Amino acid sequence: MLIKRVFAAFAALMITLASCSASALSAPARDDIATEKIVFNNPDFIRGMDVSSVLSLESSGVSFKNAEGKTEDIFKLLSDSGVNYIRVRVWNDPYDSEKNGYGGGNSDVAKAARIGRRAAENGMKLLVDFHYSDFWADPSKQKAPKAWEGLSLSEKAVKLSEFTKSSLTEIKNAGADIGMVQIGNETNNGIAGESGFDSMAVLFGAGARAVREFDGSALVALHFTDPENADAMKWIADTLAEKKVDYDVFASSYYPYWHGSLDNLTDVFSYISDTYGKYTMVAETSYAYSLDDFDGHGNTVSRWNNSSGENLLWSFTPQGQANEVESVMKAVNSVGEKGLGVFYWEGAWITVGDVSGLSGDEYNKKLAENKSLWESFGSGWASSFSVEYDPDDAGVYCGGSAVDNQAFFDKNGQALPSLNVFKNVLTGSLCEDVLSGDADGSNEVNINDATLIQLALINRAELGADALLRADVDRDLDVDINDATLIQRYLARYNDGFGINTKR
Ligand code: CA
Repeated sequence: MLIKRVFAAFAALMITLASCSASALSAPARDDIATEKIVFNNPDFIRGMDVSSVLSLESSGVSFKNAEGKTEDIFKLLSDSGVNYIRVRVWNDPYDSEKNGYGGGNSDVAKAARIGRRAAENGMKLLVDFHYSDFWADPSKQKAPKAWEGLSLSEKAVKLSEFTKSSLTEIKNAGADIGMVQIGNETNNGIAGESGFDSMAVLFGAGARAVREFDGSALVALHFTDPENADAMKWIADTLAEKKVDYDVFASSYYPYWHGSLDNLTDVFSYISDTYGKYTMVAETSYAYSLDDFDGHGNTVSRWNNSSGENLLWSFTPQGQANEVESVMKAVNSVGEKGLGVFYWEGAWITVGDVSGLSGDEYNKKLAENKSLWESFGSGWASSFSVEYDPDDAGVYCGGSAVDNQAFFDKNGQALPSLNVFKNVLTGSLCEDVLSGDADGSNEVNINDATLIQLALINRAELGADALLRADVDRDLDVDINDATLIQRYLARYNDGFGINTKR
């Protein structure tokens, strides 16, 4: 009997591979991502999201939809889903001499102001993330803005202070509720073209003073990365104290692909909060809900890149994505009252045009359309115009989104069920009474379910709405061959963590 059924499944798979029928059936959205309740030690725990590219995406024709497919303002969607804080980066002048944008959202002060206003209209505070550069600043580059080239350290400190104050004033006057200001982005090795903590401390101090003078209640954050190197992180905190740098929040990026264990993160943060009384916070994290690419620009996390490792404890599904966010929040909460919160990085940076499933001329045509949108509206990570400012990196490798598979919206802009993690952590959420994988509704998951899915994909069986819900094992809102494969792997005792047995 068993052999017959396996053979049937095998035969169906062969038919599927040999035919050109529907590769996927749309499955209904489910909001039953399982989330544990977190009792936050800090009542104002930040459940934040960076959406710095969102205006460029909207200009490129992208719209965002709720789980039922209805178009809504993304800021309302985020707020309704429990996000309480928006983070936005600011570049001084991300334009070339012809006023063409460098890309990455062309994230200037005016855009931050518009994003801040929309966040405030939906009840969310704003973290302004100054890079003090005209384009991406991270541990490998901290290039001064064009206008500051050749200035001395003290002249730069004056410019940095003026820019901070004037930008914050413009953003506030637009209606934003500025709760926190970041003096630099991932400044382990420098800031605004200066390196060495003696010089960096001068610029941190100038930024902090500008924020204090602008609004005494806004928190001053400094941002570093590579927390897996615990000694280096502690050394930074010790050095900041030694140089008497004024700040409130020690923030770090935490990408589980590269940044060590969550226990280590908690240990590092606890040392800093306990020793120096500073808040600690994750300023950036993210996790892939899929290993596919949708825009024709390779992703930082794909089947071939960064998709395995000892710290990747979660499946690459919406459920896994939600669990990652929940786990990072728990790790920061374990610090205690000084564990301030978590921001997800660019949870809305989806594709401007779907290339998945296309090939040959069709693929090339769509990719050319996408490239044109990235160039025109800055909706890719870098445009070719950035070559003037960053000739070695962005100018050469320019293109689209490397994180469209890490957003909380699918390739069509529809909210994934994982978005609800931001509110579900407040109450906890149980799965609905749905047995994932039980496509035929027999109350158990067996090979018949995989076979039924395969038959449905070649139009030899029909799945009703309830069946589609149960058959969408990886919860990516499609029923496709991956779901059948997951059932087969589950039956073969592979542990993908897809929660087939999560009926509660
Ligand atoms: Ca991509």
